[in-house]
Amino acid sequence: MPLWLHQRALLTPERIAYETENSRLTFHELDQSARQLACILSSKGIAEGSHIAVLQENTLNFVRTQHALMYLHAICVPLNLRLAKRELSFQLADCAAGFLIADLATYEKAQQANTNCQLLTIEQLLEEATDTLPQPVLQREISLNDPCTIIYTSGTTGRPKGVVLTYGSHWWNANASLINLGLRETDEWLCCVPLFHVSGLSLLIKNVIYGMPVFLCRHFHAADVHQQILAGKVSHISLVASMLQRVLDDAGAARFPDTFRCVLLGGGPVPPVLLKRCLERRIPVYQTYGMTETASQCVTLPPEYMQAKAGSAGKALFPLQIQIDSGTRPAEAGEPGEILVKGPTVFSHYLNREDATRDAFTDGWFRTGDIGYLDADGFLFVLDRRKDLIISGGENIYPAEVEAVLRLDTNVTGAGVIGIPDSAWGQKPIAFVTVHRSDAFDADDLIALCRSHLAHYKVPKQVILCDELPENAAHKLLRRKLYERWLQENPSNPL
Ligand code: ATP
Ligand code: MG
Repeated sequence: MPLWLHQRALLTPERIAYETENSRLTFHELDQSARQLACILSSKGIAEGSHIAVLQENTLNFVRTQHALMYLHAICVPLNLRLAKRELSFQLADCAAGFLIADLATYEKAQQANTNCQLLTIEQLLEEATDTLPQPVLQREISLNDPCTIIYTSGTTGRPKGVVLTYGSHWWNANASLINLGLRETDEWLCCVPLFHVSGLSLLIKNVIYGMPVFLCRHFHAADVHQQILAGKVSHISLVASMLQRVLDDAGAARFPDTFRCVLLGGGPVPPVLLKRCLERRIPVYQTYGMTETASQCVTLPPEYMQAKAGSAGKALFPLQIQIDSGTRPAEAGEPGEILVKGPTVFSHYLNREDATRDAFTDGWFRTGDIGYLDADGFLFVLDRRKDLIISGGENIYPAEVEAVLRLDTNVTGAGVIGIPDSAWGQKPIAFVTVHRSDAFDADDLIALCRSHLAHYKVPKQVILCDELPENAAHKLLRRKLYERWLQENPSNPL
């Protein structure tokens, strides 16, 4: 297949590829600058197959870097800007990156974390552009089976794993979304999710495959995003629930224009109150379920089902299949089990983790590590992560369900539920919460709230007030850290 940016610049060179707050770039201009950068990178020794770490903010330079690396068939390893130094050092060493390309904003962090690889800044590299640089043989084609990027998982259930995504994974993800949403000449996608995450990176890929402009935000500001939508500038946006919440808080009662046709909402469960607000405002929300290993969304719920299938993540995208594994056989409707995914967007393997790769596949199906069920109409409901499941007296407790009930209390800002050892029941649930006002916190009230919404065995036996809940760099709750915290404070536990 022709290399994507090369082909796009050939087909529609004058079309706008990117807009930012203060600039616009056509596909021709993007192509020129990516090629020029590829020549500079090649002169530094970056070649086919090299692993190149990228620690950059959401700017056009990140986009140029990714495309320049594709022109060299080098493999881009985008790193999360919010990682701590120790976490960055681990990922740099794990992927054996020969180079780390930072920008001026991230340079200091990159320098502190850097172990062995050569540190470059994109701004300096671009200054080296001259006509006299040797022109390396830039690639014109790609093979769908070749590795394109290595993206680390968020590290919610353990140490992050390097997910090797091929050109094929990205190609099929872009096409799966296209089959789902279609494409209009006026479409423009606002990207305020990080490009280092698979949700942002997938927009960079859609951009060249569709020939669709992307409005790129350096940072997420709810008011700016809202303004872009109201101005009728953009038709699509990718968000996680907490971002959408902030956009709606900012939006007041203003009606979104009819040209705005998709909020792609992913990353985790969506609070029902948020969905209700979207329904009232007639905001076209496509809830999604996906992960790094499936090159972003693999299951989507169209807006017309928001009410009838509230709480569902939807159905598999066209080129994919999902199945629920209840242990020895596919589960029946309504029966929970591990969610399995099969199809061409699924990753190739985990870097340096043969064991994890082996465990992740059964007969060509990828085991997501998430538990869910399909209803009688085939809609997926995601319950929780398998590793966080609490089994109390033989009954399954999904922490996410209990946390959602705790969050119904308007004073509660966050909740984390874990299972602790119990001699009678095997495990019992306890909860940690953060609140707006600690003087209004009453553990018994919260337990009573849970009693009124949940079966007795799911009700936390204890509710502990804390200053903050442990999160990873993707702002996901780390229940394993809560458990460690509990263990430290209860050294005489029965384990
Ligand atoms: P790690 O694999 O290192 O533990 P992670 O799974 O959090 O980290 P990601 O690939 O960023 O890393 O996140 C994907 C996960 O996010 C899914 O496996 C699932 O647990 C959760 N998730 C995504 N979408 C949804 C959704 N709609 N509802 C519930 N959970 C979701
Ligand atoms: Mg995962």
